[in-house]
Amino acid sequence: MTTASKAASVEFIGVTKAYGQVVAIDDIDFVVEPGNLVTLLGPSGCGKTTTLRLIAGLEMASSGTILIGGKDVTRLAATDRDVSMVFQSYALFPHMTVRENVGYGLKVSGGAKADVHAGAEDGLAMVGLEGYGDRLPSELSGGQQQRVAVARALVLEPQVLLFDEPLSNLDAKLRRRVREEIHDLQRKLGLTSVYVTHDQEEALAVSNRIIVMNNAVIAQEGTPHQLYEEPADTFVADFIGDSNMVSGEILAVNGKEARVAIGGVEMSLPSRGLPPGAVDVAIRPEACRLSNSAGAEGMQGSVLKAVYLGTHIEYTVDSALGELFIIDHQVDTPFAPGSSVAIIMASRGVTLVNPNSGERDMAGENQ
Ligand code: ATP
Repeated sequence: MTTASKAASVEFIGVTKAYGQVVAIDDIDFVVEPGNLVTLLGPSGCGKTTTLRLIAGLEMASSGTILIGGKDVTRLAATDRDVSMVFQSYALFPHMTVRENVGYGLKVSGGAKADVHAGAEDGLAMVGLEGYGDRLPSELSGGQQQRVAVARALVLEPQVLLFDEPLSNLDAKLRRRVREEIHDLQRKLGLTSVYVTHDQEEALAVSNRIIVMNNAVIAQEGTPHQLYEEPADTFVADFIGDSNMVSGEILAVNGKEARVAIGGVEMSLPSRGLPPGAVDVAIRPEACRLSNSAGAEGMQGSVLKAVYLGTHIEYTVDSALGELFIIDHQVDTPFAPGSSVAIIMASRGVTLVNPNSGERDMAGENQ
């Protein structure tokens, strides 16, 4: 398989797609570097699938330019683009054997019978399904069927491989396994891949970079680490992992450090270029620790709910900031509902967010 050498970049320059009055994506720019896996992540209706279908040539852009491997493909039909797609529904032909399904693309592109057979066997070996070639899709599990769909896309050695929610029909355990398999294969073959999901954990697990979309535009693009640690706005802070969104005040800024008052507690945090005054603060549930209230520093609180989950306890705690959702790993010293506690915030996991930047978020909830 020579797929890695064909891996190409994908570039959107000012791309808009409107369906009548509905603007599905609005003047979007991004670049996927060759060999990278980039995930499009966002709530239902934000424009992920439309973006994927524009790359595949299954939809045509209303305006803007799409480049694959530096070549303008904006007006090229799907059949003239060197792109394969793995669908959520697998889309296997039920009456064909697994081998015929995997070899189908090779056959219709005119491959000799022996080459189609060998290519299909290669593809099945790549996804760990050697020996399954003679079965029908109905004789395979859901996870195996999805692997056949991946093999079918891989044997075409595309410049770009697209995944449209490939794991959403699998149960949670299988989803984790298949996502690791896809990730390993993508890295091993150095395939440029664009992956659509609305599952943020899946996106964090498989991606080199993530493009978070909201209401037809890009809310933020970056590595999983950047999006989690430095969300650009309240929407991203809330969408990537859980966050308690609360109000605070920047009292003073000294270079890159801000002195901030949050619920009567003062702490130093990265200023992120924000000026003194009102600010939104995203507090990760893991950033708070509960302690016995007596003599402890921190914000006073009262436990409303405590849910034991083996490795951690999920608390809902009433505080000066309102109800906080807290994940505490100290399972040996639980606090029962009704307990008075001190809430101690670590600086890691507490992030200042521009209070104006989340406004689009509201508009994005209409789907
Ligand atoms: P989901 O996660 O639900 O699949 P998505 O982020 O993939 O959502 P898209 O399918 O890209 O969203 O849709 C973006 C917007 O475009 C939505 O408002 C949707 O209703 C609209 N849309 C998509 N396809 C069409 C179409 N063929 N005709 C009209 N409107 C469409």
